[in-house]
Amino acid sequence: GAHKHFTKAAATMNGKDERTNSLRVAVIGAGAAGLVTARELIREGHRTTIFEQGSRLGGVWVYTDKVEESHGQPGGEIVAEERVHSSMYAGLRTNLPREVMSYTDFPFTRSWGDTRRFCGHAEVEAYLEAFAAAFDLEKHIRFNTSVLRVSHCERGGHPGARFGADSARQNGHLDNGNASRSAPGAAMEGHSMSNLPNGGEVAGENGTIDSEELPWPRWQVTTVPNEEQGSVSTSGGEVFDAVVVCNGHYSDPRRPEIPGMGEFPGRLLHSHSYRQNTPFAGMTVVVIGASASGEDISREIALVADKVYLCARSWQNPAWAAETAEPFGTRRNIWRRGVPSHLHPDGGVTFEGGGRVDAVDVVMLATGYRYSFPFLADARIGGAEIITVDDNRVSPLYQHIFPPSAAPTLSFVGLPWKVVPFAQYELQAKWIARVLSGRVSLPTQRHMLADISAFYAALEKQGVPKRHTHLLGDKQWEYNDWLAAACGPDVTPLPQWRPKMYKVAGDTKRACPETYRDVWPESELVAEAAAEACRLGS
Ligand code: FAD
Repeated sequence: GAHKHFTKAAATMNGKDERTNSLRVAVIGAGAAGLVTARELIREGHRTTIFEQGSRLGGVWVYTDKVEESHGQPGGEIVAEERVHSSMYAGLRTNLPREVMSYTDFPFTRSWGDTRRFCGHAEVEAYLEAFAAAFDLEKHIRFNTSVLRVSHCERGGHPGARFGADSARQNGHLDNGNASRSAPGAAMEGHSMSNLPNGGEVAGENGTIDSEELPWPRWQVTTVPNEEQGSVSTSGGEVFDAVVVCNGHYSDPRRPEIPGMGEFPGRLLHSHSYRQNTPFAGMTVVVIGASASGEDISREIALVADKVYLCARSWQNPAWAAETAEPFGTRRNIWRRGVPSHLHPDGGVTFEGGGRVDAVDVVMLATGYRYSFPFLADARIGGAEIITVDDNRVSPLYQHIFPPSAAPTLSFVGLPWKVVPFAQYELQAKWIARVLSGRVSLPTQRHMLADISAFYAALEKQGVPKRHTHLLGDKQWEYNDWLAAACGPDVTPLPQWRPKMYKVAGDTKRACPETYRDVWPESELVAEAAAEACRLGS
């Protein structure tokens, strides 16, 4: 039935057989996103090259002592002038149970030496190494090779239509004003299978092609061997049919301006350059930002520091009210505060909501990261920029993945945050691989743009700040289901133990922030994950 339908459609698109839809694809980055993207592309028959600037795979999970802030750590002598990708610190343990972190078909139930459910970073790196080995991905990786530039070189000779046939049903779908309902990332309401691109159907089923029939854009990828970064010796550039961007987004620090920053005599560091707590012994430290990193790092620093002040905009949060008065942490030396309103030349810090702390040695910015695609700086189609990044909104992107003007041959994996990442990357990658092969198609460019506008309008209406455009949180599961459905009927949605385990982990973390990693209240979900691992033969 449906499956045969796909084959037929692919054949219709190619005019030949489906094998001709094997494209030359460049993947930028060999982290968790790039690895699974390559696996999916290869499975779908694409000739795939992964460019990785580092010498190892694993991205953020590759720990290094190096830091890039030239003033180094307080009291420390570690200084590196080069760019450092990873923001990983020595003592990091995962904030999710290992089972739920896994890709869908490569369980993370076994151990490579660290059996803890919330394991250290080296264990996650070992898992990714094992994944790459199991699918023989290393031979596709060009290590120590940075992508400097990706530019649109021509409209390639791809035999297929650029977008799906604008069938009568799709036209109806768009023209009856329902386009906004098809943005699962937006309101997520009214979500149903019929809101899938092409109603979940395949490209060109009736053989008609709309006015957007254009050959797909192709890309010139310019690289430089790592040791020559900054020099002019670059590769002339190789041409690829498609590029998938998997460069990660926890690497380029976001540093808010704080009044008085320039005159502050203490050290200003970003959590990107935090490695271990030893240099902070006996100090007074202000940590700004109480998301995952801020919460963890302040607790780690407080084990050796004199006093730690953990600051956030949401300091008025009722759950925190007691903590602003009473210190917390293992040594009861952490206090909640509002964000600093001023850093003073005498080393004092004053806070929104009141209070002042004197003789602050270090202000640690745990204020997050920026999306950054330096290699796309000059990428244009018909003179127009393909994407822009404004206040951490990467736009325009259909379903956080495809920029309509360059779709489907330019795409992004791994942009959503507050998600369980690996399995979501896998679904995103599967969809991309199938769109590129012609097995499934995207809606028209016009439809995608309308969908994106409706998504942004919905966010605005809900009062969601722009910089939260790619924040999914609880919406991630519906998004994942949407992706699975868009891939076609042979892709099953993620099993229910995953969202359940995620929720239990979150609830436990809120209830016991100090100890949640070592108490796991839910054995049934673990048993379900283990049973699934068994079925998968691991
Ligand atoms: P990355 O891992 O950053 O990989 C990107 C790769 O692209 C890197 O190898 C980089 O070298 C390469 N690259 C970048 N630019 C170029 C270029 N121009 N040319 C060539 N190569 C390039 N997730 C969890 O599931 N659980 C956790 O507990 C967890 N904890 C985290 C803790 C920290 C401190 C951080 C920073 C993140 C954490 N995450 C966690 C999220 C983590 O980011 C994801 O799990 C995931 O590893 C991200 O994978 P990625 O491939 O998108 O990006």
